[in-house]
Amino acid sequence: MILTDFDYARAASLEEALTLLAGTDGARVLAGGQSLLPGLRTGAEKARLLIDVRHLAQLRGVGQDGGELRIGALTTLAELAADPLVRAGAPELAAAARANGDPQVRNLGTVGGNLAATERPTDLPVAAIAAGARAELAGPGGTRTAPAEELAASGVPAGEVLTALLVPAAGAAAAFEKTADRATRYPVCAAAVRITPDGPRIAVTGATPRALRLRGVEDRLRGGPYTTTAVLAAFRAEPRELFVPGRGTSAEYLGHLAGVLTARALARAAAHSSA
Ligand SMILES: Cc1cc2nc3c(=O)[nH]c(=O)nc-3n(C[C@H](O)[C@H](O)[C@H](O)COP(=O)(O)OP(=O)(O)OC[C@H]3O[C@@H](n4cnc5c(N)ncnc54)[C@H](O)[C@@H]3O)c2cc1C
Repeated sequence: MILTDFDYARAASLEEALTLLAGTDGARVLAGGQSLLPGLRTGAEKARLLIDVRHLAQLRGVGQDGGELRIGALTTLAELAADPLVRAGAPELAAAARANGDPQVRNLGTVGGNLAATERPTDLPVAAIAAGARAELAGPGGTRTAPAEELAASGVPAGEVLTALLVPAAGAAAAFEKTADRATRYPVCAAAVRITPDGPRIAVTGATPRALRLRGVEDRLRGGPYTTTAVLAAFRAEPRELFVPGRGTSAEYLGHLAGVLTARALARAAAHSSA
């Protein structure tokens, strides 16, 4: 049962959703409802108006234009995990979607909702950062794009709707690894990597205050080899304050776990890139 009052509107178009969003304090976009509705039940989330965008076909589906995948914000996590274009061009995103929650959450939860949810670490932001993805956002002033890293840092700005994720389709040299909380399946720590001609791109979440790209670790590993010893040493050189203790785990443990998961992901990505 949800104990607070709120209104509900089913947006017939993206333009109507933006108008409703601009016109009501406390208006929230409703997609799959897998974060927002439990949050409203517990009181962790507040809303005066829920703007249901689930029927907007233009926000759904995966396409490829040259070297870039366009993943509509309403694409479900199950669709993302199974999509052949995503599995071939951005395997870290497909793996992150597969690692998410349980079948019901994956069938209802959406790409946009997973990227926009801020109350605890989720799986897709870290994969999107490693992939060098950009978020497409619609607002009163039109459409713009922002790096996934910026979205993870500041969330979807008030008044804007996340419409798509734009992802360089780089092939198989990418991977995602996660240690899940046993009760919730949310990440205790997750790492995503993509090996590019300029070196590895590495992002971590759960162990860190938010999904973060670890440029220091990338610099130390540039040129390889990506052995477990080298990766763990690169993580040990990071400032300890980067890793936040929590849920009965120390910062030292989480820093080590982040290194182990990154080493596994790099080994898998490197094996695929040379296959
Ligand atoms: C039992 C359970 C287990 C879970 N396990 C995991 C897990 O292992 N890993 C993980 O990462 N997550 C996990 N989740 C969270 C789940 O994956 C997310 O709740 C889901 O992906 C969010 O998508 P949604 O479409 O349901 O978003 P909603 O709940 O509808 O919205 C979430 C937030 O995003 C905003 N929003 C949604 N879409 C947009 C948009 N297009 N533009 C702007 N703002 C938007 C909403 O306003 C709200 O603030 C779990 C959830 C449950 C209930």
